[in-house]
Amino acid sequence: MGSQPKLSILFTKDEIEATVNRLAAEIKGDYLSKHPILIAILKGSFMFLADLIRRLDFPLEVEFVRLSSYGQGTKSSGKIKLMQDIQSEIKGRHVLVIEDIIDTGLTTHFVLDYLSKKKPASLKLCTLTDKPTRRQIPVNIDYRGLNVPNKFIVGYGLDWDERFRNLPDIYVMENEG
Ligand code: 5GP
Repeated sequence: MGSQPKLSILFTKDEIEATVNRLAAEIKGDYLSKHPILIAILKGSFMFLADLIRRLDFPLEVEFVRLSSYGQGTKSSGKIKLMQDIQSEIKGRHVLVIEDIIDTGLTTHFVLDYLSKKKPASLKLCTLTDKPTRRQIPVNIDYRGLNVPNKFIVGYGLDWDERFRNLPDIYVMENEG
């Protein structure tokens, strides 16, 4: 291993919690009687999903997809592949996609396009963080958490080379070690 990457705090766990509470309230208002399927994009959104659904006290289901976009380090490979698909039928169901971060938008665009072909009754998007300055393709965000600067962030599910997902706060990574 090289030297330790330098991390500086961007959002504390209290700020994250307040954001999750706000998003949960918005989602609850729209989905209370819709029995939605929440589809989380692995791996980064697992912590956000776990905190979010504990605040959604109405019937819902959870599914996961896993895609490959980033390889090692902080640079996108540009290629997106479906590595793990959902298990349930979503035709005619209300689907809410749960993202950890939207950067170029390519991953989210790929997922929304893929899921829309399965003819859900509705298809919306919730992201904990948004890095709008890096967008390469427009993405319509229905529930947006925190705006992040054009920096690489880690913590609260987000990794750098599989590290730092377990940090309760979100940090900017200042260097790559
Ligand atoms: P996009 O396709 O929008 O460029 O990237 C989406 C994926 O790239 C995210 O789900 C995440 O896995 C990864 N990603 C983009 N920006 C960051 C970042 O700042 N930190 C981390 N840890 N992952 C990121």
